[in-house]
Amino acid sequence: MRTPLIFAISIVFLLPACAGKPRSPATVPDGPPPTAGPTSTQPPPVPALSGPFQLPALPYAFSALEPHIDARTMQIHYEKHHAGYAKNLNDAVVGGPLAGMAIEDLMREVSRHPAVIRNHGGGYYNHNLFWKNLTPDGRGHPCGKLEITAALDAAFGSFEKFREAFSAAAAGRFGSGWAWLILGADGKLAITTTPNQDNPLMDVAETRGVPLLALDVWEHAYYLHYQNRRADYVAAFFRIIDWEEVDRRYQAAKKAL
Ligand code: MN
Repeated sequence: MRTPLIFAISIVFLLPACAGKPRSPATVPDGPPPTAGPTSTQPPPVPALSGPFQLPALPYAFSALEPHIDARTMQIHYEKHHAGYAKNLNDAVVGGPLAGMAIEDLMREVSRHPAVIRNHGGGYYNHNLFWKNLTPDGRGHPCGKLEITAALDAAFGSFEKFREAFSAAAAGRFGSGWAWLILGADGKLAITTTPNQDNPLMDVAETRGVPLLALDVWEHAYYLHYQNRRADYVAAFFRIIDWEEVDRRYQAAKKAL
């Protein structure tokens, strides 16, 4: 009599992990603008900034990434840390020759600019990418026919080996910094880390390339919920990566080689 139950349970476990709810793009609801705050279920309003560099709208609510990243951390990270980097970057460039430059171009020749561009321009660029790398609909690994899946297999042996290597790199970055998956000028994928708000676009970076995936390992990114447990935060990050976005960036970077 237990056979049908065992059969049913087996079917559940045999279903591919990708066959979950379909991804749906974030939509802006009708009605009054969403209220700010960690308990809102709507994407938060974009902080107003004066200057050429504006924050991107978050495509999800502060609470949407729970339990992996808590709403309070998201709110402080976006409204205080990211907005702070953007404000300081704007204050540094307004009225000067750098005001019309794209952030990517500022990064590529950052050694020619004042330190504020490296620190706060880096913080602005890195967080823009970080938010886009995250999704409430993460599956834990790439799904469907994404080019990045085969590319990760070819470069690292398997997705699991990539995950282990990236997690080790993120754990091993001493102090504040970032872990990255990049496409190098040689057309190869690589894992690298940077200190502070540096990134692999910068001409001061040890290993340069086009960032495809970014992980913030500053304590402000995880300390409220994870305290000193950076490894747990990194494991949680892998539950909410938007691999379709990483794949889009991979294809664009390949074309631009
Ligand atoms: Mn941060």
